[in-house]
Amino acid sequence: MSITSSNLHDLTVAHLAYKLRNKDVSAVEVTQHFLARSHAAEHLGAYLAFNDEFSLSQAKAADVRIAAGDLSPLTGVPIAHKDIFVTKDFPSTAGAKMLGGFYSSFDSTVVNKFAGEGMISLGKLNCDEFAMGSGNENSAYKKVLNPWDMSRIPGGSSGGSAAAVAARLTPAATGTDTGGSIRQPAAFCGITGIKPTYGRASRYGMIAFASSLDQAGPMARTAEDCALLLSAMCGPDLDRDSTSLDVPAEDYTRSLNDSIEGLRIGIPKEFFGDGLSADVRAAVDAALKEYEKLGAKLVPISLPRTELSIPVYYIVAAAEASSNLSRFDGVKFGHRAQNYTDLNDMYKKTRAEGFGDEVKRRIMIGTYVLSHGYYDAYYLQAQKIRRMIADDFQQAFQLCDVIAGPVAPTVAWKLGEKSSDPVANYLADIFTLPASLAGLPGMSVPAGFGEGNMPVGLQLIGNYFSEAKLLNMAHRLQQATDFHTQKPEGI
Ligand code: GLN
Repeated sequence: MSITSSNLHDLTVAHLAYKLRNKDVSAVEVTQHFLARSHAAEHLGAYLAFNDEFSLSQAKAADVRIAAGDLSPLTGVPIAHKDIFVTKDFPSTAGAKMLGGFYSSFDSTVVNKFAGEGMISLGKLNCDEFAMGSGNENSAYKKVLNPWDMSRIPGGSSGGSAAAVAARLTPAATGTDTGGSIRQPAAFCGITGIKPTYGRASRYGMIAFASSLDQAGPMARTAEDCALLLSAMCGPDLDRDSTSLDVPAEDYTRSLNDSIEGLRIGIPKEFFGDGLSADVRAAVDAALKEYEKLGAKLVPISLPRTELSIPVYYIVAAAEASSNLSRFDGVKFGHRAQNYTDLNDMYKKTRAEGFGDEVKRRIMIGTYVLSHGYYDAYYLQAQKIRRMIADDFQQAFQLCDVIAGPVAPTVAWKLGEKSSDPVANYLADIFTLPASLAGLPGMSVPAGFGEGNMPVGLQLIGNYFSEAKLLNMAHRLQQATDFHTQKPEGI
């Protein structure tokens, strides 16, 4: 592709990095280009905050590094961060009124690592309040529109990240996935996203939702880009995150082109039942056929407790959320009610005003399932079944190397369609929750189009630390198909 300043946004991270290294374009030019596009796309609702002066100062520093030959594979490439990662130079809100205008005194580890590579932060991306949601309609600030069809949701909770990448407002974004929030919006917006093994990327400075599930990951257009980004964001952070794994960072780009001849892909029958819509099924089946052409074998498997992952997740995640969100009391940081009579009244009014409906719902459910008399019946049961779900995966991995299926039962739904029905939202998470509960890596790869010409994602789930294999599989599919290169009309 010949580049001009007008189509820089069509380049992938890998291609942009190459052009920057070659000095075909400067980091300042690239940054100005993406900032201008991002500012002009206000109507999509993808961003919550910019700091152009700061972004351009990072770009100038990247150009100095490039001139000096002091490079990493990502130097000079822009990225935008889900507003769950705290940052010194942009407000950090988690999409919540409770944290309106909040500035952190430090940068989260993931943001720091990308800055250390010489990447440029373009801004903060919209998300569901405290990452609770599947459609980004729970943001306290604004809705995000799906660039493929602006009457539809982009997915959630990393909806701003997915929409921004799909609309070419940034070549890459960070996301977080507690129960599917990287994979599902990636699928709904036709991009690629990976959630690594739990503990692989540091949670330090990620505003906590459910700490035993929360995991950061990259969202970009291609598996190659995700491999570059994931290589930079993983690695131990033992002093700062008690669940960070003591496993050195890896270079995930090295095995992208490996052959997948003879690879056994497990097809869980529970992912292909009645709940799966025909259009998504057709696209997923076609992608699986591509894998067969590449020499992989499809193996039928069972994940018998797939349905139980919904109640288990919505008990465990709510329980942890109720505890994590107790820190928002109007004293330490964030919103504080204006008028109150005493300390208790201040707590009550602050939390009543600062939290939205879905967050309150989860705090109430979480407090209930942890309360004396109900703990054994709900929380403890859920923890036991969570273990069984993880064991089911280990059984399955006796028969196969990786697991594949749909990311979500349908394509992106219409704005407002499920917003008054929380349970309908929860049910749509069925295929992403099992891997989250087991702490396994999972990814979404563009696999074609369904109803309304909306993107469909293929989900790949691997055993612990198999990120390189998932990225390799996704890359091989992307060499055989062109779904990941297609873009929404008018973009
Ligand atoms: N949709 C799920 C929820 O609402 C998952 C969210 C997430 O992964 N952050 O909790």
